[in-house]
Amino acid sequence: MPLHIQTPLIESDPLSQAAGRRVRLKLDALQPPGSFKIRGIGLACETHARNGKRRFISSSGGNAGIAVAYAGRRLGVPVVVVVPESTTERARGLIRRQGAELIVHGAAWHEANALAQSMLGDEDAFVHPFDDPMLWQGHATLIDEAAEAGPKPGAVVLSVGGGGLLCGVMEGLHRNGWSDVPVITAETHGADAFARSIAAGERIALDAITSIATSLGAKQVCEQALNWAARHPVRPVVIDDLAAVRACERFLDDHRILVEPACGASLALAYDQAEALQGFDDVLVVVCGGTTAGVDALRQWRDDLALMQGAA
Ligand SMILES: *Cc1c(COP(=O)(O)O)cnc(C)c1O
Repeated sequence: MPLHIQTPLIESDPLSQAAGRRVRLKLDALQPPGSFKIRGIGLACETHARNGKRRFISSSGGNAGIAVAYAGRRLGVPVVVVVPESTTERARGLIRRQGAELIVHGAAWHEANALAQSMLGDEDAFVHPFDDPMLWQGHATLIDEAAEAGPKPGAVVLSVGGGGLLCGVMEGLHRNGWSDVPVITAETHGADAFARSIAAGERIALDAITSIATSLGAKQVCEQALNWAARHPVRPVVIDDLAAVRACERFLDDHRILVEPACGASLALAYDQAEALQGFDDVLVVVCGGTTAGVDALRQWRDDLALMQGAA
């Protein structure tokens, strides 16, 4: 039994109406740890456990850390998650609640990650948040399920952080004979390493992450994301934070499901970026989920961002 669940695939009336075309949703926000990440991380952790690893180590204060903690608890394997001081109380609590040991170290992620790496012994497995073929293989099950449910969509919309979800979906499209289905990627300004890399024709590293969509905040996407982009039709779209936050609020109203702005970025393409979906009459949106932002955080962001936009 895998650690992820098979999620519902539904046609959304509100999103279809907003987008002026059929929009179907793959509801990975309903995964028990709250995001699609358990698909790949679950597979990686199961494989590590089978290969004799006795402890999982992560340096993600986001949904990856939460998924590793969940996988460890389910498999009976101890987990250590090292996060920087910037990690919110909410995320810390979610990791601890899964029974993982939480170590808070350093002002920024690279310091937390350095400590995590220094702890690695022979019987430990480090679980990367996005750059690992095992993760992509696990994420690809999302498309296996969509293919089983059918029909073939005109395009797939998904959010890109480090590119793990993108690589998994690409792998899934190809292994299900859907290699001609274009992928439309959503990022927010200030976390748009993929769109910039495509525009530049080479892998670009951002100086800093300035978007509130922290789950999209990889300074650089994995190499494999660009390899896929060279052999599969991809259309990158970048939106602003406010549109992502508003999409989360509308989605909560429309479907009673709370997601992070990282996921709101994809939903915003359907809600108010119809031109991005031009030419496709049946769009499959990956509702990747995310648990690190509550309703209060969404409201705060919306007020702050609207104020900034009004002042600009
Ligand atoms: C991790 C994450 C992403 C981005 O996934 P990558 O594999 O890093 O591209 C998007 N949304 C949510 C909710 C996430 O947790």
